[in-house]
Amino acid sequence: MKLPRFTTTLAFRISSLFLLMLFISGGGFWWWLNGTSLTGDMAAEEEAWYASKAETELDSLAAQMSLSFEDSEAMTQEAMNFGRDINRYSAEIIVFDGEGLNVFSSQPDSLSLAVASVNPQLMYDMSSGIWDYGTYPLPEDVDAYENRVFEVDRLFQNNDTASPVIGYLVASYRPATISLGDIETAERKIGLNAIFLLLIYSGISGLVIMVWTTRRISILGQGVEAFATGDFQARVPGTSGDEIGSLGRNFNHMARNIETMMEKLRDKEQFQRNLIANISHDLRTPMASMRGYVETLSMQGDTLSTVDRERYLAIINGNLVHLDKLIDHMLVLSRFDSGQATFQMEDFPLVELADSVLMRCEGLAAERNISLDIELEGTESLVHADPLQIAQVLQNLIENGIKFNQDNGKVLVGLKTVGDLMEVSVKDSGMGIAAEDLPHIFKRFYTADKSRTRAVDGTGFAAVQDHLGQSSGLGLAIASKIVAGHNSMLQVTSVLGTGTTFSFSLKTASTIEAMDQEA
Ligand code: ADP
Repeated sequence: MKLPRFTTTLAFRISSLFLLMLFISGGGFWWWLNGTSLTGDMAAEEEAWYASKAETELDSLAAQMSLSFEDSEAMTQEAMNFGRDINRYSAEIIVFDGEGLNVFSSQPDSLSLAVASVNPQLMYDMSSGIWDYGTYPLPEDVDAYENRVFEVDRLFQNNDTASPVIGYLVASYRPATISLGDIETAERKIGLNAIFLLLIYSGISGLVIMVWTTRRISILGQGVEAFATGDFQARVPGTSGDEIGSLGRNFNHMARNIETMMEKLRDKEQFQRNLIANISHDLRTPMASMRGYVETLSMQGDTLSTVDRERYLAIINGNLVHLDKLIDHMLVLSRFDSGQATFQMEDFPLVELADSVLMRCEGLAAERNISLDIELEGTESLVHADPLQIAQVLQNLIENGIKFNQDNGKVLVGLKTVGDLMEVSVKDSGMGIAAEDLPHIFKRFYTADKSRTRAVDGTGFAAVQDHLGQSSGLGLAIASKIVAGHNSMLQVTSVLGTGTTFSFSLKTASTIEAMDQEA
């Protein structure tokens, strides 16, 4: 048999288990309490006695007492024995003599003892056999027995019904005497009701709590399920401070992390696709150019003039240099990406390093009569850095300053000690970078839009066009990574048509010493 789906829910299982436990414990308790009080069987037996046996038994007792009436001790004994027997039916017997005087009561604590005598005529009438017990007492005759009397039998001398009446045997439901037992019974009843109500109340409240709790878990489950099926934006409500709330918050936290990771993976994938496209493009362009010139040289070698041949060879050489540099840059970047790039930190004079880089770039600058200068502000101090890597940064920045400059332009390397830092800047009087390109120039393979470059063409930047073919868009990416490795940031300010300044800072040697000492 297939059970309905809701029967497999946690809410249903917990609720059923709870109700079962409640039922078992409540029922057990109920049974135990009832077992210690009057049972239903007893009540039924009592009813049967009143209905069928009481009259016969009382008649025969009356007959017997009629015989022993004179012997008060024997009579009392009989009455007492019978009284003890019917005690369990909550009945008592009282004996009055012919004058209506109370001579015996089977219940010593009975209120009947307070009634010393009754009207013998009334007793006589009540024992007539046609008396309607339902009509007695009259409102004005209310006494201790009230309507408790259910049978009155006459007693005769030697049981001779023709002789005068010598007494009356009265059977009554036992008058209500307030005893400890009564109180206990009453309390037990109240207790039973209270327990019953308490069970119902705790059952209902338990169910409400469980439905509420499991509802929250199921909301949590829906969120997790949505996330698991691919909705990475799915979140669960986690505002409360309890365990379920904290579970929700932790899930949201985890979901956020996974979402970010997925985005990064997607970006990385996209990046790698672009990278391969860029690399193939950047390699293919110089290769195609070289192949063209090599073919020309091999096919028309004999007919070419020496000047042309040398020019072609120079172009091939330029392309080879560019390819060499491109591959070199890519290797450096891949070392950074794989975390293999290491920094050999040492204290050295930056002015001297900058000077040597400038000297290396002199040839390139001289081609277009660009002046290279160095300016030192403040005291000359040592910096704590990797000299080879910083030389690479300076070279990339200075070469860019030359490449994107106008003929007769300037490139100025500024060094300024400010506090514990040495601020380094490379400023050129070049074409500048358009505002829309600025946020992207540090990305690898990014080269500024050629149309924007052309916009400033004709104002002395013609030579720039030659260099654009040689751009790889990797120089600044490498420089910014090296600077970041020195806990600084490569920054840029630029005015289109006027010039660009790149800057970063390095810790001076004394700062590092001070830090070492503190450590
Ligand atoms: P590359 O110089 O090989 O093109 P870079 O990463 O060094 O690669 O530079 C990226 C781009 O940033 C350059 O193509 C150029 O458009 C722009 N750029 C860099 N430096 C300068 C500069 N000093 N003046 C103007 N534009 C520059």
